[in-house]
Amino acid sequence: MRLEKEILRYSRLNGYPIDEYAPVVCSCGCRELQLFSDDTEGGAFSICTKCGSEIDIENSKGYMEDTFQNLCQCDNDRMELGVGKSVYPNTHEARWIYVGAQCGKCNLVGVYVDWKES
Ligand SMILES: [Zn+2]
Ligand SMILES: [Zn+2]
Repeated sequence: MRLEKEILRYSRLNGYPIDEYAPVVCSCGCRELQLFSDDTEGGAFSICTKCGSEIDIENSKGYMEDTFQNLCQCDNDRMELGVGKSVYPNTHEARWIYVGAQCGKCNLVGVYVDWKES
């Protein structure tokens, strides 16, 4: 809940407020994930800390060039992730994607990567 609010706040400042929000959950049911992203090209994927599965976020992994692991300010790498989307009016077609995380250790929330869909 806090994470969704933070993504909403961030997206409003960005000029493309989110219309849709969904938490990232591994197929094994685990929500404690590691986040990897490319803030330049715009893309992200996560790895489940329980089963090791890789989760491609919004089919963006193929666009990534430099992969950077996102850590919380407290150095923790296990986070709950959520994806917010701003969509074109009257569609579900995304125009801007935001990936936020809530630290499993210190509870800090933030948007770690966002990109415009083209
Ligand atoms: Zn898993
Ligand atoms: Zn933390």
